[in-house]
Amino acid sequence: MLPPRREKSRLQGDITADVVIIGGGFAGLSAARRLSELDPSLKVAVLEADLVGDAAAGRNSGFIIDLPHEVSSDDYGGDSAAKSREAIEISRTAIKMASTVAAEEGWSRDVFDPCGRYSAAISGEGDDHLTAYAGQLVGLGEDHRLLTAEEIAEVTGTRAYTSALFTPGTVMLQPAAYIRGLADSLRDPVRVYEKSPAVRLERSGTAWIVKTPEGSISTGRIILANNGHAESFGFFKGRMLHIFTFASMTRRFSPDLLPGHRKWAATPALPMGTTIRRVPDGDGDRILVRSRYTYHPGIVAGDGTLRRAGAQHDKKFKARFPALGDIPMEYRWGGAMAVTWNAVPAFGEIEDGIFAACGCNGVGASKATASGLAAAELMLGHRSRLTEIYQRFDAPKPLPPQPFTTIGAKANLAFKEWMAGAE
Ligand SMILES: Cc1cc2nc3c(=O)[nH]c(=O)nc-3n(C[C@H](O)[C@H](O)[C@H](O)COP(=O)(O)OP(=O)(O)OC[C@H]3O[C@@H](n4cnc5c(N)ncnc54)[C@H](O)[C@@H]3O)c2cc1C
Repeated sequence: MLPPRREKSRLQGDITADVVIIGGGFAGLSAARRLSELDPSLKVAVLEADLVGDAAAGRNSGFIIDLPHEVSSDDYGGDSAAKSREAIEISRTAIKMASTVAAEEGWSRDVFDPCGRYSAAISGEGDDHLTAYAGQLVGLGEDHRLLTAEEIAEVTGTRAYTSALFTPGTVMLQPAAYIRGLADSLRDPVRVYEKSPAVRLERSGTAWIVKTPEGSISTGRIILANNGHAESFGFFKGRMLHIFTFASMTRRFSPDLLPGHRKWAATPALPMGTTIRRVPDGDGDRILVRSRYTYHPGIVAGDGTLRRAGAQHDKKFKARFPALGDIPMEYRWGGAMAVTWNAVPAFGEIEDGIFAACGCNGVGASKATASGLAAAELMLGHRSRLTEIYQRFDAPKPLPPQPFTTIGAKANLAFKEWMAGAE
C-alpha cells in the first residue's frame, strides 16, 4: 500500500565492518540501533536479503503487544506472575525503543499509534476466556476494561462480537512504514544493504568473512537476526518450528458502509483465532483479516496453502461483517515465524563472535525487537535488566525427529484451530 521508495544499495565488492547484522527485520534493525546508541563510532553493516519491509516484519498485522496473549500459557513462561511480569518488561522495553524512534522521526499516528487494542470474543467460550484473563490482569495490576456486546459494537460497527477486553499498552503500526522508517533512521557509520543475502560465513584467522552474491564483509562480530533462516548457516537446526500465518485485506470501501470507529484493532479472545483491523486509507477504509497457522519445515508455503488460508479469511470476514459481505479482498499474503518447542528465543553468543537474535516465537514486533536490543547489549558487554532476563533463558529444546515433528506440529495446529472455533 505504500509508494515505492529508493532502494538502498546492494553490497558490491569486499569491505570491512566492526559488526555485520544478518537480517533487516525487527530484530536486526533494533540491534543496529542499539549498537549505534551504545557506540556511535561502530561501523555496522546490515545485510537484508530482500527489500526492507518486504518480508514478515513489514507484512504483519502491526500489533506491538505489551501483554502476554495468555497469562497462563507456556508461551509466556507458565502461570507464575513473576514470569508474566518479565514478559511484560521485555515487550515494554521494545515499545519504549520504538516510541523513541517514532518521536525522533516525527512519525504520524498512521505509522505509529499508541492506541491500545481490543481482544474481541465471538462465542461464550471467548467471553469466559476474556473474563478469566481480566482477572489475571487484576492480579498483575494491569490496566484494562471489559466491554459488553453493545459497547464493542459501537467501536466495530458490527454486532458479531459478544464481548471484548481493552488494554491500553499496545502500539499499532503500519508495519511496512515502521520497518522502512526504522531502517532509514539509521545513520552512518551504520549502513543497510538491500537485496544482499548473506550466503556463507567463513572463518579467516580471528575474523569472519560474510559472503553475499556480489561481495563480502570481513568482520570481527556477527549478529544473526534472520529468524528461522539461521538454520541455513547450520545454527539451531532441528530446534525451530517454521510456522506460517496469513492475512487478507479488503478493497477500499466507503466508511458509510460500516458504522463504528474508522480505526480499531482486535486480536482474538482465544490465541489461535482471527485478528481483525480496520484501517482508514485515504477517503476509504479497509479491513484486514489475519488467521490460520500452517507448518512448513522447508520455510516455503505454496500457493495452495495461501488459497486455503484466503478461503478461511473470506468466511471469517463474512461472519463478522455481513453488511460488507460483497467487498472482495484486494491483497493476500503470508509469512514465516520461527517458534521454539519451549517458547524461548534462539539467543546468545552461539559461536565465537556470532550472536543470535532469532526464534521470534510469533509476536516478533515486541519479542524480536527486544531480542535484537539484548543481542547488541550482550555483544558490547552492556549490562541491563534486558540482558539479565535474556541470559537466563534456557536454550531452545531439540524437536522430535522427523516425521514426528511434522505429524505432531500439524496435529497440534489443527487441534488448536479447532479449539479456537468461531473465534
Ligand atoms: C501475516 C502476519 C501477521 C503477523 N502479525 C503480527 C503482529 O501483529 N504482531 C507481532 O508481534 N507479530 C506479528 N507477526 C509475526 C512477526 O511478523 C514476526 O514475529 C517478526 O517479523 C519476526 O521478526 P524478526 O526480525 O525476528 O524476523 P523477520 O521479520 O522474519 O526478519 C528477518 C529478516 O532476515 C532476512 N533474511 C533471511 N535470511 C537472510 C540472509 N541469509 N541474509 C540476509 N537477510 C536474510 C529476511 O528477508 C527478513 O527480512 C505476524 C506475521 C505474519 C506473517
